[in-house]
Amino acid sequence: MTISQRTTSEWQAADKAHFIHPFTDQAALHAEGVRVIQEGEGVWITDADGKRVLDGMAGLWCVNVGYGQPALIEAAHEQLKRLAYYNAFFHSAVPSSIELAELIASVSPPQFKRVYYANSGSEGNDTIIRLVRHYWSLKGEPQRKVLIARNYGYHGSTIGGTSLSGMPWMHEQGDLPIPGIAHIEQPHYHMLGAGMSREAFGLKAAGWLEEKILEIGAEKVAAFVAEPVQGAGGVVIPPSTYWPEIQRICDKYGILLVSDEVICGFGRTGNWWGCETFGYQPDLMTFAKGVTSGYIPLGGVMVSDRVADVIEKGGEFRHGYTYSGHPVACAVGVANVKLLRDQKIVDQVRTETGPHLEKRLKELHDHPLVSYTEGVGLMWAIQIVKDKATGALFDNDKQVNAICREFARKNGVVIRAIVNDRMIIAPPLTITCEELDKVVDATKKSLDETYDELKKRGWM
Ligand code: PMP
Repeated sequence: MTISQRTTSEWQAADKAHFIHPFTDQAALHAEGVRVIQEGEGVWITDADGKRVLDGMAGLWCVNVGYGQPALIEAAHEQLKRLAYYNAFFHSAVPSSIELAELIASVSPPQFKRVYYANSGSEGNDTIIRLVRHYWSLKGEPQRKVLIARNYGYHGSTIGGTSLSGMPWMHEQGDLPIPGIAHIEQPHYHMLGAGMSREAFGLKAAGWLEEKILEIGAEKVAAFVAEPVQGAGGVVIPPSTYWPEIQRICDKYGILLVSDEVICGFGRTGNWWGCETFGYQPDLMTFAKGVTSGYIPLGGVMVSDRVADVIEKGGEFRHGYTYSGHPVACAVGVANVKLLRDQKIVDQVRTETGPHLEKRLKELHDHPLVSYTEGVGLMWAIQIVKDKATGALFDNDKQVNAICREFARKNGVVIRAIVNDRMIIAPPLTITCEELDKVVDATKKSLDETYDELKKRGWM
């Protein structure tokens, strides 16, 4: 084994001295000490003290086929031995990157036959910004530069990704967004749809796009970028009327529709792509995470015929990464997509495990802290509230969801606490109904303990 054997406290000391973590308050981390995870098998992860917990978040919504799948491990090993690296510049390619492009196209809606590789979701979305602006230049409309995205959308952490994201607390660090990005409200029925039916609210929320297009001037708008379901924004399920109306508006003004499928892609919503679950036909799709089940970094953009036909006739698109189409990442991607396809894992999410989780989560609706649950496939949110009758939330700085998350960890499951007191469950897609029962039982116990704790603190 190349990595040394150390105790948890030894790892914590080295981590504190040398490792600046992503999206982390370092002082808070150091006060607590890092949790060291060192093994994974199926839906289970094990820390350096040997404690096993069920990973109800699939890492960061990415380990779709679960940990320790031999086919993915062997694919990486074989490819590393055969050819660890070669680039896709200078008219070159490796078999794994060609085969993966062909495979992804085979599981994509019919307008998508071509893939542009990147290494992450953020890079994929930076590619989107350059690609859509280049497309409109080639079409003779170079003034179409503005990309419209949504509040609380998450599209990554690079300068482009952060700019597209609708998180004000990210924008305030580093003078973002960049020029040419606009945002509209999210289709959050429970927060913004008071007094309306879900269907009427869906049309209203889509209408905010049309209002923004008219405010900017349709001739300046290049694209609308959105996740099928806002993930990091809290698993916000749009009403059924929302996406068809968004499609109609984009078509009306000729605007490119971009579906950020970084979380939803590769099965999470019960279809290969979130746009299939919600019934729209995007022009571009960003993917990452589930394409390799997170075993190795890979991301990219699915480019529809509408866009690819123009780009391919436009000379060189001066964009690319050293690791675009990395041989090892693509070999793992091939093994992963074949596993999802051949073991019918996506169908299982749609017909079996997704409905089971939905049914079990409904049991939480009686809980004094829960106002509702919402989700699709294997991505679900539990809304914690202070007052069930009015739906009033706790102050965000009380971090009630973090209290629940810590109880959950003690009770043997990882679930995520997200803005506005939402608890998120998004396990590996290979999870069984029995394992889902463990997740829900532990979550229920953790909500009970949170409730007792809040009463003890006088917050209820
Ligand atoms: N888009 C979406 C919808 C995401 O959820 C994420 C990551 N959570 C990203 C983009 C960014 O991906 P990455 O972290 O791989 O850069």
